[in-house]
Amino acid sequence: MTNYSDAGLVQLAEGVHAFIGAGGDSNAGAIQTPDGWIVLDAQQHVPLAEKFRAALEDTGLRSFLWLVLTHYHLDHTAGNSVFASDMPVLAHQITLEKFREVLGAGVSRGDSFTEFEKKVSFLFGPNITGLIPAGDPGWDWFRSRIGEPEYATYIAAPPTHTFADRFTFHLGRRSAVLEYLGPAHCDGDIVVHLPEDGIVFVGDLLFVGRFPWLGDGDIEGWISALGHVAGLDVRQVVPGHGKPVGLKEVGEFRDMLIALRDGVAGALQAGMSEDEAVERVRLANYENLPRYPEWMPWNVRNAYRSLNSA
Ligand SMILES: [Zn+2]
Repeated sequence: MTNYSDAGLVQLAEGVHAFIGAGGDSNAGAIQTPDGWIVLDAQQHVPLAEKFRAALEDTGLRSFLWLVLTHYHLDHTAGNSVFASDMPVLAHQITLEKFREVLGAGVSRGDSFTEFEKKVSFLFGPNITGLIPAGDPGWDWFRSRIGEPEYATYIAAPPTHTFADRFTFHLGRRSAVLEYLGPAHCDGDIVVHLPEDGIVFVGDLLFVGRFPWLGDGDIEGWISALGHVAGLDVRQVVPGHGKPVGLKEVGEFRDMLIALRDGVAGALQAGMSEDEAVERVRLANYENLPRYPEWMPWNVRNAYRSLNSA
């Protein structure tokens, strides 16, 4: 079990912070304005969101203006209610569609959900029940992941404001550009680029020290989105999981996705079935990363499906 006390605030520039999850758990961020905080993601459950909120308030600024979501996944949005009771929630329009697809068309602030199927679909994608066969032992890991008491109830705070493609906060000497780069880690992923500071928050477009989840992603789109990030003039990149890094690590992560794509494309060219690809495609250089054993089969399965239909 993760020691949540290791999660904490890291200052990246004056008025710009990242909240780094313990042991590779999900990150969040916050930008200070004269009137209050713009919060970027809200942590993976209510107690951690409360810890994040308290850390921000401890700096002396106690008002909150906006909650921005990098994507819909539960481990970035289950703390929304801690922030969103009195503030607008801003996300790409596809993120709102995901809330509606999984939690119901009329999903509203404060609605709560306890069903395993809804929670696991919101954490890993609504296609997960089609990805992992019923009765497959792979389900055990997903059941235990969502089985901890902090995840018993998911309280929704869906986006109240949405945009397509691009949205900019103009904050005096600083701006924060929210940019949609197409389907990638899931769909609706955005990056938050602070050009004057040389900082970009990329959400789950980047995992540092952990093998990524691609089960509801688009492998080609993800590789291309990271190509865009690699072209930004930034010095600090805040991933969705793991410590902040630079563009070198973005390139290395992109190389891993390319290796995965090439492995699956090779399996398709060799005429392998999806099951054969799951059995045969290996990423020898990355097998020791946490989550590789649990997630690789489903990443291969999803990549096989997207490349096969391309
Ligand atoms: Zn995610």
